[in-house]
Amino acid sequence: MGKHPSGKSFAEIVQEVEKLPPVPPPARDRAGIYAEVVVDPRGRVYTEFEDKVTAERALELASAGATVVWDSCGCGGGCGLAWFDADGVAAMVAAGVPDIRHTKRARGTISHWRSDAGADLLLAEGAVRWGTRLG
Ligand SMILES: [Zn+2]
Repeated sequence: MGKHPSGKSFAEIVQEVEKLPPVPPPARDRAGIYAEVVVDPRGRVYTEFEDKVTAERALELASAGATVVWDSCGCGGGCGLAWFDADGVAAMVAAGVPDIRHTKRARGTISHWRSDAGADLLLAEGAVRWGTRLG
């Protein structure tokens, strides 16, 4: 058994390879709503922070720069999500608090998600109206 050019024996190299962390799960490289996380178009990953926020709290978070995404039918994005950039969110903030409807036929919710770096995201689902662009 000769030595490897690096001076390490084959057994030592195998030992080092075995110490490497396991291969991570497939990257969530597309924006969308996944089982545990939401990924925005910039690739930031958010986990749920509050499952329901009030209209006032949503406005406060949007004013502070949260990203907003709207899942109009509440299916989890299967038929498309509307993402709002800084301009879109500014227009919603200017319009005031969102209208989160709770009726027999229409039910809306807004949940609050946060990234590891502390970025906030608001996920509006279903019967929510906010300014002229959302709802
Ligand atoms: Zn849908």
